[in-house]
Amino acid sequence: MGIIALNNTIMKTRISVIYGNNIKKMTQTLLQAENAAERIGDKTASIVLKPNLVLYSDPAQGATTHTEIVEGTIEYLNDNGFRRITVAEGAWIGASTEECFRKLGYYDLRERYGIRLVDTKKDEYVKVSPCGIPMEVSRTLMEAGFIINMPVLKGHCQTQMTHAMKNLKGCISDKSKRDFHRLGLDLPIAALNTVLRSDLTISDSICGDLDFEEGGNPVETNRMMASDNPIILDAYAATLMGYEPEEIGYLKEARKLGLLESGEWEISELSKPIPSESGPKGTAKRLSVYTEPDEACSACYASLIRALRIFKEEGGNPGNMKIAIGQGYKGKTIKIGVGSCCSEATINVPGCPAKASDILTMLRRL
Ligand code: SF4
Repeated sequence: MGIIALNNTIMKTRISVIYGNNIKKMTQTLLQAENAAERIGDKTASIVLKPNLVLYSDPAQGATTHTEIVEGTIEYLNDNGFRRITVAEGAWIGASTEECFRKLGYYDLRERYGIRLVDTKKDEYVKVSPCGIPMEVSRTLMEAGFIINMPVLKGHCQTQMTHAMKNLKGCISDKSKRDFHRLGLDLPIAALNTVLRSDLTISDSICGDLDFEEGGNPVETNRMMASDNPIILDAYAATLMGYEPEEIGYLKEARKLGLLESGEWEISELSKPIPSESGPKGTAKRLSVYTEPDEACSACYASLIRALRIFKEEGGNPGNMKIAIGQGYKGKTIKIGVGSCCSEATINVPGCPAKASDILTMLRRL
């Protein structure tokens, strides 16, 4: 549980978390746990699904939403009598949304389920000015009856992390995207979230990229999350990436704008973390030399890799450090270990899985 902003009334926001390999089934379990059908209510509602298709890239590279999440959601909605379903997205400037739709299977989804696809680069726009920042927002999103946001939890070279709040940037015109960058992203992203509210967020934290929005350094986590509060969900996600919520600029702006109705979250864990199968790639793989995994779960291992990355960026030197992690260390006396499996370690970061922000604190102390 964590706190980001406080007023006199503290309410807890539930975040459902699930681990596994069957992405479609995990999606549907999350939707059931969040009572999505009851929340939408009106069977004739226009439901918009907003994945992250920043550019064409295989989801295994850690940049784009796994198509199984979109498909699992469409099936869930159809099974519950909802038929007006649109998938809307706009790739980043210079990339083609249509290429993403074509290569990632969205035209097949349209064929099979009769959904509508909208490239927000070509949509009509509604002009709004939240916080005095003019922006052109996709009419499809503005007029949606229910928005299901489907971000990827990953690193970002400017905002440190990108997730639910920033994923809505795909709903504005390319002109507005340029304006956002000119204004430094943080305040515009928070402002956009005052006019476009994600009714439900289904987070793809399966193998998000460690550093970059465009992928290439995926870190397997095999985790998905869901919440009706995208801002609290981002605050929690920040801790999984190794940051305190207040270190993320757009969360800080969100707090100033009073977007946080409550400051606490509680985790509802629908399944337990699972062992890693493939391990990290790219930059993340180089960081693995400081680790000694033995039956490590992917979520725990990803936290360790993320903490090591930030520590090195800060100028920290792990030297010859070998950090134990995994179920193989249960009951063993070791020097440094991460996660509750290594509770016998002289220096231990508790948690199942351990949080990257806690591991980073341990590394700084050492
Ligand atoms: S503490 Fe152990 S069981 Fe829990 S996530 Fe980490 S490795 Fe897995």
